[in-house]
Amino acid sequence: MNYKIALIKGDGIGPEVVGEAVKVMDAIGVKFGHTFAYTDILMGGCAIDAVGKSYPDGTAEACKTCDAVLLGAVGGPKWGHSTNPDQRPETALLSIRKDLGLYANLRPAALRPALADACPLKKETADKGIDLMIVRELTGGVYFGKKDRYPTPDRGEEASDLMAYSEQEIERIGRRAFELARLRRKKLASVDKANVLETSRLWRQVIHRLAQEYPDVACEDVLVDNAAMQLVRDPGQFDVIVTENMFGDILSDEASMITGSIGLLPSASIGDRAPGLYEPIHGSAPDIAGQDKANPIATILSVAMMFRYSFHLSGEAQAIEDAVDAVLNAGWRTADIAKPGETAIGTLKMGELIRAQL
Ligand code: NAD
Repeated sequence: MNYKIALIKGDGIGPEVVGEAVKVMDAIGVKFGHTFAYTDILMGGCAIDAVGKSYPDGTAEACKTCDAVLLGAVGGPKWGHSTNPDQRPETALLSIRKDLGLYANLRPAALRPALADACPLKKETADKGIDLMIVRELTGGVYFGKKDRYPTPDRGEEASDLMAYSEQEIERIGRRAFELARLRRKKLASVDKANVLETSRLWRQVIHRLAQEYPDVACEDVLVDNAAMQLVRDPGQFDVIVTENMFGDILSDEASMITGSIGLLPSASIGDRAPGLYEPIHGSAPDIAGQDKANPIATILSVAMMFRYSFHLSGEAQAIEDAVDAVLNAGWRTADIAKPGETAIGTLKMGELIRAQL
């Protein structure tokens, strides 16, 4: 097959980690008989420098001509001060998610066996294994609801953020989560705050209705405060977690911490039609940019997610994940995951070793 990939390399370490991920993609192409055509798309701080806007006109249209988008990271201290939204790198991130209709954010948090000792939890907890996937609703809820600020006669200024969810929004993310659970260990935890919030009561009602269509998936409700606690007490109990935007934002960061390094975790944002967007969860790491120090694994594993979820090529995805594990099992480490006294390798060498496994 021939696939068209949009590359948004972005800022800081973005170009370095995307560079290694592209070489891995090409190695997969040779091994499995695919070809990839790449289109470079300027977005973020580099676009502000080039054309005065972080999200140049036509960005979404250019992405829509491709089968998937691979993003490095955008932003950095150089562009952090502008009050003009067009000149803020985050504007580009929110805009592209909205314009491509990417309502489901998939964030796996898996403790790679070779790095079990990087887990900050108790050894007996880590030994049970952690392999969960958070499915976060990405385009609704309180982050997108009406915002207001107004004076009151006797209580000073007041502010409000509206949290709203429709049945349709809950159903489409719920279906994604049930379908994913079917491909994994068939367990789904739906996280809400139904004892307090009306949006959560509607959420629960829709999820329960969907559960009847997926009798092979064991579905449970978990209150968000309990979910936060269970993630550090016994994360091995979770397979797929589905939740609304703000709860997902917080829980997915918590989950990423328990697996060790930010340099290892990939993510996918998908909607009902192509292209999906794949990116590491880390930022542009300006402190190490251009020094051959960045860990490219999160971006390389994002490519594995692209193969699995956009192209339905699970063999290719597995080959990448196995290659990463083999390199880590052999003891190779970039600086972010090296223990004191261990020799660290650079971005290019890590990429080369992973390709050699393919
Ligand atoms: P960051 O993730 O860039 O860096 C946090 C720390 O982790 C730094 O010490 C960094 O060196 C390290 N780190 C991150 N990725 C690494 C990797 N692959 N290998 C080794 N070490 C790595 O977060 P930050 O410092 O808060 O943000 C820096 C910039 O990135 C900001 O401008 C922020 O807005 C932006 N950002 C962008 C995205 C995105 O593009 N999706 C996400 C988060 C932050």
